[in-house]
Amino acid sequence: MWSQSWVNIMDIVKPYNKSSIDVTEKMVEKGMQPVDMAKIAEEFFVSLGLTAMPSEFWSGSVLEKPKDREIICHASAWDMCNGKDFWIKQCTRVNMEDLVTLHHEMGHTQYQMQYKNQPKIFRDGANPGFHEAIGDLMALSVQTPHHLHGIGLLDQFEEDEEAEINYLLSMALEKIAFLPFGYLMDLWRWNVYKNKTNPDTYNCDWWDLREQYQGVSPPEVRTEDDFDPGSKFHITTNSPYIQYFVSSIVQFQFHQALCITADQFDPANRVGKPLHKCDIYRSHAAGEKLAKMLQLGSSKPWPEALEIVTGKRQLDASAILDYFHPLIVWLEKENNKTKEHIGWVRDKSHPPCLRTKTKKSGSQSNSNPSITFILGVFLCAVSLTKLDFFLVN
Ligand SMILES: [Zn+2]
Repeated sequence: MWSQSWVNIMDIVKPYNKSSIDVTEKMVEKGMQPVDMAKIAEEFFVSLGLTAMPSEFWSGSVLEKPKDREIICHASAWDMCNGKDFWIKQCTRVNMEDLVTLHHEMGHTQYQMQYKNQPKIFRDGANPGFHEAIGDLMALSVQTPHHLHGIGLLDQFEEDEEAEINYLLSMALEKIAFLPFGYLMDLWRWNVYKNKTNPDTYNCDWWDLREQYQGVSPPEVRTEDDFDPGSKFHITTNSPYIQYFVSSIVQFQFHQALCITADQFDPANRVGKPLHKCDIYRSHAAGEKLAKMLQLGSSKPWPEALEIVTGKRQLDASAILDYFHPLIVWLEKENNKTKEHIGWVRDKSHPPCLRTKTKKSGSQSNSNPSITFILGVFLCAVSLTKLDFFLVN
């Protein structure tokens, strides 16, 4: 709905007719259950010398959609702040997407366990983007065809250039397509806070950003009677979003640095040891470096934490370019062949959103302003004392 992942168009845009790395079918065939998927994720962390999930994780977590009650199924990870109860909640379906999500959530759990000995105030990510990046970092290794083959989820895979381009394109449809969306979510929200976007322009300002950054438009004309930003969980639950954008960049920085540590990537030999084939599985050296950073929690400024793993103190998107290098070269060649227009042009005759409102607004709310204020103060107080939780994007 939000075009935050484009991987579902892979079957339409797939460049070469090679076997897919979507292991969903295999998972179903094996009769895999959500708990088996969580064990796969746990085993990856443990292989790096990181911590196994405690028994409280297995008894307290919700890994399947309960049959006896309604719950909010949006996946999240919870630190109950007593040093032993670390839980996740995920209505796991048996498919590859949810396997990746399980790694994402368990990345939060691993972070929480690593910094559990810090004073409460520092039991957090170096910045919120770091917290979102850890599980995704693991998934970058787990998703490689070689790794999936090794853990018995992929029978055979080709290792030629065509299969590699297919693989990198599917990763790009996930990771690159996310960047503009990850950015515009909070851009829209910050414009609301700045009164640059006001209630009369909520929806069309949203679609302006969607078109400008993502190059997408709605399937039918929208108006100010609609509130499309509200379709996104993080808008209606007031959950910040910029961390997912930061995470998308920093996870590749972590991956690049740890792959060098694990001797799985050689910047001087990108053909022999390319970044997209790196799998840090079983590298205790990589795990040790990562643990050192995770254990800091938020007790040091994030550039110091970043430096432990990467040797650098700044966010840097060049690791993404490194990872996708073969795909970039291939795309340039293909686009040249077809003289493809790069980018998109706004079709002014078909505006995606009409700045009109037919229904009356402003008078529907009967709420008493002072009650709203007291409720706001109460919710603030609750959030200050609440448990730490992290969500999936
Ligand atoms: Zn998350």
